Amino acid sequence: MQATNFASAKEQHFLSLEEKYGAHNYHPLPVVLERGQGVHVWDVDGKQYFDFLSGYSAVNQGHCHPDIIAALIEQSQKLTLTSRAFHSALLGEYAQFITEYFGYNKVLPMNTGVEAVETALKLARRWAYEVKGVEENKAVIIVCGNNFHGRTTTVISFSSDPTAKNGFGPFMQGFKSIPFNDLPALAEALKDKNVAGFLVEPIQGEAGVVVPNEGYLSTAKQYCADANVLFIADEIQTGLSRTGKMLACDHENVKPDILILGKALSGGALPISAVLADDPIMLTIKPGEHGSTYGGNPLACKVAIAALTVLKKEKMADNAEAMGALLRKKLMELKSPYIKLVRGKGLLNAIVIDHKDPDAAWKLCMAMKENGLLAKPTHGDKIRLAPPLVINATQIEECVEIIGKSLQALN
Ligand code: PLP
Repeated sequence: MQATNFASAKEQHFLSLEEKYGAHNYHPLPVVLERGQGVHVWDVDGKQYFDFLSGYSAVNQGHCHPDIIAALIEQSQKLTLTSRAFHSALLGEYAQFITEYFGYNKVLPMNTGVEAVETALKLARRWAYEVKGVEENKAVIIVCGNNFHGRTTTVISFSSDPTAKNGFGPFMQGFKSIPFNDLPALAEALKDKNVAGFLVEPIQGEAGVVVPNEGYLSTAKQYCADANVLFIADEIQTGLSRTGKMLACDHENVKPDILILGKALSGGALPISAVLADDPIMLTIKPGEHGSTYGGNPLACKVAIAALTVLKKEKMADNAEAMGALLRKKLMELKSPYIKLVRGKGLLNAIVIDHKDPDAAWKLCMAMKENGLLAKPTHGDKIRLAPPLVINATQIEECVEIIGKSLQALN
């Protein structure tokens, strides 16, 4: 389908600039945004939309949250980057803040999500050699089928998505993939004494919001503890109040050995990610062995403190829990023949489309866009519905009305 046919004349201008001068590594909806506030974004023609993607769950706190933007402005006028060659007045304060917030001894700050995943993998391998006693270069990390952990060459090495992977080899060794939500497969894989860690998304977001059975995370954590293997949770998408708890692992009272955060750690203002762990794991990496020019920069420290503070101050997890339940209930009440399934936790949800047209999910997203709501299909027939966590009940009802009206485009 020619996306540009659906754009206004003004939007066409921006689309053609991107098309001509930008790499073609994305397939966005043909909408050109220039402003955001709370649950809303506006396009270059001034049309208002509900944002049901939230920057892939980076904008949990709502677009341009005033406290986060105030922290950004204040710190950007003082000091933005020192590199880690010097200390800053903010890194220590941030490290204390975030470790107390999540209950770990130490934090290792990075920038993008995938960098934090890479960091966690390096930590797990180092821990395996230094603490567990695995023979050098033999460490194995167990991962799950249909995972999404980012785009680096190491991380795509254990992806099961051919689009993410094909043509980018050779791949990194040392990963064993098992099906998600499959405890017997995990128990079997853990028999290998070289296993260092089990890397898992508590809910698989990119795969289409796949929620595991109740008890999966807590049992998996126990299996890992019994096998002296690190339980590594990638909460980049599920974390920070999105699923109705601060972390998705909190639903099962699981404390990961290594916790990976990103996205909403800045509320969408900057790329900020972090890895949290206790000393026996974190202190296996020594000066000079890992780092990043921007990791832990003063601007990021200040913004992350503000972003985390806002989550608790405004009880965003509670709102996500309540609004998520309302959203799923209202979607079910639509009784649409085209909605095969509604699933999710808190405000991380997806609908699975049932239609003979393989482009139906894309067409529905286009119709929703026309009617004032932005969402994007993932893996063909699924549409993620993940608005900012500041959405209220009246807005949820309005949004479900928009979705209901848009479904008629599939008739
Ligand atoms: N891990 C998960 C679970 C994600 O959802 C994502 C991004 O969508 C990443 C890692 C990668 O984060 P980034 O795009 O910031 O590198």
